Amino acid sequence: MKTFDIIVVGGGHAGLEAAHIGAQFGLNIALITMPGIGIGSAPCNPSVGGVGKGQVVRELDALGGVMGILADKAGIQFRTLNESKGFAVQSSRVQIDKELYSIEAEALTASVENITVIREKVLNISKTDSGEFQITTTDGLYLGKKTIMTVGTFLGGKLHTGQTQTQGGRFECESSPSLDTLFSQIKTRPARFKTGTPPRIHKDSIDYSKLVEQPSDEQTRNFHCLHDSHKRFIPQVSCWLAHTNGTMMGIIRDNKEKSPMYNGQIQGVGARYCPSIEDKAFRYPDKNIHHVFIEPEGLNLDTMYPSGISSSLPKEVQEDFVRSVEGLENAKILVYGYAVEYDVVDTTALNQTLEHQEIPGLYFAGQVNGTSGYEEAAGQGLIAGTNAALSLIGASPLILSRHESYIGVMIEDLISNTRDEPYRLFTARSENRLFIREDNSILRMYPYRAQFGLNTQLDFYLGHYIGEYEILMEICDNQMISEDSELLKNLSGESDHQKLIKRISVTDLLRQGWLNPITTLEIILNFYEMNFNSDVIKSVAISKKYDGYIKRSDAQFDKVKKLETMKLNWEELAVSKNISFECKQRITRIKPETFGQLKLIEGIRPATLAVVAARAL
Ligand SMILES: Cc1cc2nc3c(=O)[nH]c(=O)nc-3n(C[C@H](O)[C@H](O)[C@H](O)COP(=O)(O)OP(=O)(O)OC[C@H]3O[C@@H](n4cnc5c(N)ncnc54)[C@H](O)[C@@H]3O)c2cc1C
Repeated sequence: MKTFDIIVVGGGHAGLEAAHIGAQFGLNIALITMPGIGIGSAPCNPSVGGVGKGQVVRELDALGGVMGILADKAGIQFRTLNESKGFAVQSSRVQIDKELYSIEAEALTASVENITVIREKVLNISKTDSGEFQITTTDGLYLGKKTIMTVGTFLGGKLHTGQTQTQGGRFECESSPSLDTLFSQIKTRPARFKTGTPPRIHKDSIDYSKLVEQPSDEQTRNFHCLHDSHKRFIPQVSCWLAHTNGTMMGIIRDNKEKSPMYNGQIQGVGARYCPSIEDKAFRYPDKNIHHVFIEPEGLNLDTMYPSGISSSLPKEVQEDFVRSVEGLENAKILVYGYAVEYDVVDTTALNQTLEHQEIPGLYFAGQVNGTSGYEEAAGQGLIAGTNAALSLIGASPLILSRHESYIGVMIEDLISNTRDEPYRLFTARSENRLFIREDNSILRMYPYRAQFGLNTQLDFYLGHYIGEYEILMEICDNQMISEDSELLKNLSGESDHQKLIKRISVTDLLRQGWLNPITTLEIILNFYEMNFNSDVIKSVAISKKYDGYIKRSDAQFDKVKKLETMKLNWEELAVSKNISFECKQRITRIKPETFGQLKLIEGIRPATLAVVAARAL
């Protein structure tokens, strides 16, 4: 029987990160994944990043993750979303060539000596008397000191297209045994989750002259910090924008009884924030116009992915509604849309390292934890993989604060609550989004990565970056620009209040509302002939711009934090006369140990929080 330090089950986005970060600690890793599915494959929209998610990819990148590297190499269209809004909510999004992404993921994994890829299906997992995990697959038996489960949508997976139901984790893939079969000690949630995907359309059957073109943006920075900022690795192509209309939504509404989601066939709950086209038709009966982004799946693939119209309606209905869209009148469907239902783990049974509270050494990450999305999966994979490794080498765990990272927000949200729908990240989930931006991800993640004590090219770069950042922050505070400087004249605006007539520090200059802080700082540094890394300039400029708001938010956070870390006796609360029956039920189920955890429980009323807080004050 072969023994490994860490066995990762599942070669999706969570498994990939878990295996690679574990390997960076020099441990012996097995990545056991079903045959027939490439590592890091993208069953749904082949894109990486997006609002809230671009931040996760950059956090991952600074922590040593691989998603950014792969997305850059397979990127075929780059965009910065929310460009017209504030810097805090801007996010990068990269359309990827899904074939190439998986090829790159395979190659990167094969290049790491201490990762062994085993293409077998796991059938059973048990714990030996010595505390190791014995993993039985279709072809072998393996022992792991730690095990990380990243099995995605495969646990008892069932696919639906119209009335047709088949066992499977995704299109043309078999399902995994359910979690109870895999591991009798684990409780799966009684509810099942559901996700879906749209029909794929032949690229030559679309009339692009009726669609709005969205070319790739040259200015969007690559995700990986060691890649040249704007180098593109492969040719770039456009995505396209179409719209739904009354005829299309009418077809869907007329076929309600054939919809597995609306005729009772599907019991699993889908993500509210990623609705199928059926959800849009029935939840918003008065709205007929929705965006449909028509996006290539790869440079050499014939399929186009129509984002926004995932469906599990019968094939003939999908054909009808797709062809009612302007530009898609002659659309040829190559793969029909479907929905998949699957089991998820109860994440309230996990701790902040994503280790199962009752089964030490067993970690869960990715869609199996009830999240949806590649980035969410990857973020959890890195946390589980790092913590399994840190635990093996006897180091302190990696716990990211929600005040400092979107990954931290996600983990805390997940473990604090039994979720009743798939969890997705978006910027509104963070209380501190002015600070947790894409541009300062290195600043936020560096202290955590530095704790790993690794000495790679990445670590060297991050250390250098932080050094430059600190120097430039100081220059901004200390460098004064005199009132008669040419520089001030050039930066002055047209109106009276935009005239710069007094001596001013660079920091104060960057806060002037009419000035773009990034170009202003570039101009100033050029003027003084100072050279800095362009990423550092951007991050410093935005940090200075938001400085005042961030300080205020920090002060508020400190106050809240004091209260949040307050220890609770949940057993006392569960019998309190001042707390409603419903809240007491939730408290008994989640067993919060701190005020912070209590606050995050869905359905806990402000009145309950007030009762508990009053005891502390
Ligand atoms: C139909 C569909 C639609 C989706 N729609 C969206 C969407 O609109 N938006 C979005 O953000 N995300 C969507 N997703 C989700 C996205 O694919 C996942 O969030 C992401 O891939 C999850 O990553 P993961 O690593 O957790 O799991 P996966 O990427 O699913 O990887 C799981 C891996 O585990 C392996 N595995 C499973 N069981 C076993 C076993 N017993 N033995 C060995 N290996 C096993 C599988 O082979 C697979 O490689 C969709 C997924 C599907 C299937």
